[in-house]
Amino acid sequence: MYGYAGTLLRIDLSKGEISKEPLPQDKVDEYIGGRGLVAKFLWDELPPETEPFNERNIFIAATGPLTGILLPGSSKTHFGSKSAATGGYADSNMGGYFGPELKYAGYDVLILTGKASEPSYLFIDDANIEIRSAAQYWGKGAITTEKELKEELGKDFQIITVGPAAEKLVRFACICHDFGRQAGRTGIGAVLGSKNIKAIAVRGTGAIPVFDIEQAYKKGRDAYRAIYDKPGFTGWTPEGTAGLTDWINKVGAFPTRNFQTSYADHYKEINGKAINDRLKIIDKGCFCCPTPCGKYSHTETAQGSAFVEGPEYETIALFGGSCMLSTIEDIAYANYLCDELGLDTVSAASVAAWTIECFERGILNREQIGREVHFGDLQSIVYLLEKISKREGFFDLLAEGVKRASDKVGQDSATFAIQVKGLEWTGYECRNAPGMMLAYMTADIGAHHNRAWVLGADVTGSSTSVHDLISAGASGETMPKVEVSGKAAIVIDSQTTRPIFDILGVCRLQYMEIGFEVEHYEKIFYAVTGKKKSWEDFRRVSEKIWHLTRCFSVREIKGFGRHFDYPPARLSDEPIKSGPNKGHRITREELDLMLDEYYKARGWDKNGVPMRKTLEDMDMKEIAESIEVKSNHQE
Ligand code: SF4
Repeated sequence: MYGYAGTLLRIDLSKGEISKEPLPQDKVDEYIGGRGLVAKFLWDELPPETEPFNERNIFIAATGPLTGILLPGSSKTHFGSKSAATGGYADSNMGGYFGPELKYAGYDVLILTGKASEPSYLFIDDANIEIRSAAQYWGKGAITTEKELKEELGKDFQIITVGPAAEKLVRFACICHDFGRQAGRTGIGAVLGSKNIKAIAVRGTGAIPVFDIEQAYKKGRDAYRAIYDKPGFTGWTPEGTAGLTDWINKVGAFPTRNFQTSYADHYKEINGKAINDRLKIIDKGCFCCPTPCGKYSHTETAQGSAFVEGPEYETIALFGGSCMLSTIEDIAYANYLCDELGLDTVSAASVAAWTIECFERGILNREQIGREVHFGDLQSIVYLLEKISKREGFFDLLAEGVKRASDKVGQDSATFAIQVKGLEWTGYECRNAPGMMLAYMTADIGAHHNRAWVLGADVTGSSTSVHDLISAGASGETMPKVEVSGKAAIVIDSQTTRPIFDILGVCRLQYMEIGFEVEHYEKIFYAVTGKKKSWEDFRRVSEKIWHLTRCFSVREIKGFGRHFDYPPARLSDEPIKSGPNKGHRITREELDLMLDEYYKARGWDKNGVPMRKTLEDMDMKEIAESIEVKSNHQE
């Protein structure tokens, strides 16, 4: 099996049993790797209707056939489970060095079942695998734990950790790695915490079999040269994703004050240039990356000082925009605190912004919260993050995320709980970006931008790389209202392209941000695996994943259907109050029009459930039967 280590490692934490088996050829043929294998293993192996924190939930780490091969951005690992945040399908990916090391140790996929009887960490040293006590690490921060475990085991171990928030089952707890990389979304860290697993440390000294090593080397070298020659190479890398801030703000898509407004006057204080000028120590990248987007930094604030990787664009948008922190130093400190506590920065900032708005409106009071909380105040943010990570008293509710919290608090607070399917929204205000709005609405894990990013197409009317958008700039003047029709095809195209990088185990940013051509991946895939696959073949796998994860939500979430795809009322009912998109909104009728177009193009019914014929045409007959039974049962 060229390109793969060839082994699936299973650990039953309840029984303390460790077993190895050949990576199933049929699953690899059908779903290739990474996100594809996560979706398939979850469908096949999760006992239906298992609660996320029940020990029957499964935790998957899956690499792709290009993970760990000496190629640009070949660093990615996908983690999956039933989502702690949404109760539906969850995956979250991470770069760094963990995936390559896992493959060098001999394992493509790791599946954890059950629950350890005491706080533990997994020790994987090639064939030597142990479940070890984590008593001395339990309660410690994620960054601190990684540092101390490296001191104990050696620097050549690659380690993922969770923080105190995961131990307390905060529904937006993340996985941390390499002192700043995170698998941030869907509460994947909380699932690991629910299994009493504090960390997984791996060291591998083996090799990955490659079909044609000379060609793989040559194609890899050509790929690096092609990337270095791209005009975007020197433009994008210095600031990484933070370089987006000015453009997003200029086009009025920068969420501010919990998405009440969409433009920040203080953008120059919180953009990529501010990081470079005031915080950055060094660029930091993942395994084999030619375009290191991480900015390892040091920040000093009134609340404390810290070393931190970042902030990335999403963290800037949510803490600098939605929570209105006014300096890059403050944002970086909130970022550090989330990393150490093991909180997803996007969801944590969203919960903080929602809480502050509730306080300002008198829905929550000083007695409940324990103090006043305000937009733009780092002290308020630090207070909220620390309390939430402990689930202390009232903060037990906030640790549930904005959807569950607003359902309990009531008083219309759900209208400004900015989420879809229970996952908090990332950094793009969409009331004049219908394509991007539809992308958020239909994303399988909830409101996340990495499933499809079509903001550029909304604003410019054409699909273009982020670098080109930034270079072109934008007027910052009032934007014309964007048409909603025709968006489904654009969104589906992006949703079909993006998983390809995820199944191969490579970073998509070289393609997305600087326009690295997809043909390279076809050639590289052949040289590494010996299998000829066209880009269209890969796209078909993507399509299957979209149907499969939708079916997973139908199977796992009671009453799942169309109404799970709507944004909160703020984004359809309230016109934007200021900025270049002032007065714009996308009405509920327009949302329905887009959903109708989308479901039809996908071959799903009016309720958003994949139709039998669609699934059969994709060779998913067994899944069609399972879903049909469930749909009939619900009726
Ligand atoms: Fe990692 Fe960024 Fe490089 Fe992608 S572009 S591999 S996320 S450092």
